[in-house]
Amino acid sequence: MLSLLIPICLSSLFDSDMDAVLRTEHSPFLGMYDVPAEYAPTPAAGRVAEREEEELKKGIAELYDESSEMWERLWGDHMHHGFYERDASVSLSDHRLAQVRMVEEALAFAGITDDPLKKPKRIVDVGCGIGGSSRYLAKKYGAKCEGITLSPVQVKRAQALAIAEGLEDRASFQVADALKQPFPDGQFDLVWSMESGEHMPDKTKFVGELARVAAPGATIIIVTWCHRDLSPSEESLQPNELNLLNKICNAYYLPAWCSASDYVKIAQSLSLEDIKTADWSENVAPFWPAVIRSALTWQGFTSLLRCGWKTIKGALAMPLMIEGYNKKLIKFAIIACRKPM
Ligand code: SAH
Repeated sequence: MLSLLIPICLSSLFDSDMDAVLRTEHSPFLGMYDVPAEYAPTPAAGRVAEREEEELKKGIAELYDESSEMWERLWGDHMHHGFYERDASVSLSDHRLAQVRMVEEALAFAGITDDPLKKPKRIVDVGCGIGGSSRYLAKKYGAKCEGITLSPVQVKRAQALAIAEGLEDRASFQVADALKQPFPDGQFDLVWSMESGEHMPDKTKFVGELARVAAPGATIIIVTWCHRDLSPSEESLQPNELNLLNKICNAYYLPAWCSASDYVKIAQSLSLEDIKTADWSENVAPFWPAVIRSALTWQGFTSLLRCGWKTIKGALAMPLMIEGYNKKLIKFAIIACRKPM
């Protein structure tokens, strides 16, 4: 029965118009900063964009409300790719270690030090999931970490895990929008976004908010899915590439993608310093095949069925991520920079 259902679901998923809202190709630069007057949206267009953004946020919240428990059961509390040696073969237990290694590699790349005088003391985890990074960083640095997510279910679980680990005074969580963060300016000496940037409909506003809440001299780390950089002769991706990304957007509640160099340009436009970026696509290559294998176990399969349609749709789209990486269209990128003193 299910073998029949899956192809039917797949075709309806990829031909459907139901999430057309998520396919809008608005520029990552269309934000509240530096928008020339002639490109500023009319009030009516502004309202449509607002409604689309609200629908996107609702979809993201529901997707993570629905799927987080299953993810935690199969994969633990880090809801992000693992970092692997290139061309390494890995056993299943290594994947969780690889996810922790991702956190360590990101910190090392950004030059975050263990020096007691310089280590971060106040951290914000933007798009915190169930708080895997928040608790790890709070413990590692003895820091205070505040996590925000759109998913109320994730907040509840993140709080429960913090209490279970005796970290309730150092790791706190709330439902809040990364594009309108509930924090005053200049609060945090480490601003951390692990695989949430791809959900942000306005990349300029996103990086602008990360910079706003960063204290002078603070480090900002963004680890995120990007599309490949365009060549100098290209104005956009090829139609077949856009088509593949649109299918992935439909499944994972993602707006239009941007490249790592787009992030660099945004960081430069905000006068951020020491901007560095790297392509870690090859270091994450074993991850999606492993996620697919875990979904194909009996436990994975029954958990998926219990979760609901949004999660099943996400699972069915996993091979598309592999296709995107194989075609060198999808890039797994890190961007690190510093707010000027
Ligand atoms: N960083 C976490 C979770 C990654 S999953 C980890 O590595 O484990 C993506 C997360 O981004 C989810 O928690 C989702 O709710 C959050 N997110 C997406 N869009 C957001 C937004 N606009 N504001 C706040 N959080 C957002």
